[in-house]
Amino acid sequence: MREPDCLFCKIIAGTIPSEMLYSDDQVIVIKDINPQAEVHLLVIPREHIVSLKELDASHDTLMAHILRLLPKLAEQQGLSEGFRTIINTGRGGGQVIFHLHVHLLGGRNLPGFG
Ligand code: AMP
Ligand code: ZN
Repeated sequence: MREPDCLFCKIIAGTIPSEMLYSDDQVIVIKDINPQAEVHLLVIPREHIVSLKELDASHDTLMAHILRLLPKLAEQQGLSEGFRTIINTGRGGGQVIFHLHVHLLGGRNLPGFG
């Protein structure tokens, strides 16, 4: 399930440190190391899925879990005015780490789109 050369798999395994805010049997949530807004979290499935393109029906429960978790995390972060979610897919979509993750951004300094 884990890819030895994958940064997020190493974070999940605990061999690379992270600021973890939440964890359950399906996902971990960490602070982005290079935040693009006051709040910038990454929701990362424990399973090594490369990107949205690799999803299949077996991931439906996981993806629903992630979508329903996002507003709860935003509320915990005090983002009462709202938040932004981003999933970069493939090099052309700006994906740098090829282990599926959802960016959750909000608060001050929320950037516009490119
Ligand atoms: P993406 O471009 O969607 O693949 O996003 C990768 C994100 O991972 C970027 O926002 C990086 O700042 C973030 N990142 C890279 N290394 C780490 C790390 N060790 N801990 C937390 N976030 C990281
Ligand atoms: Zn991985």
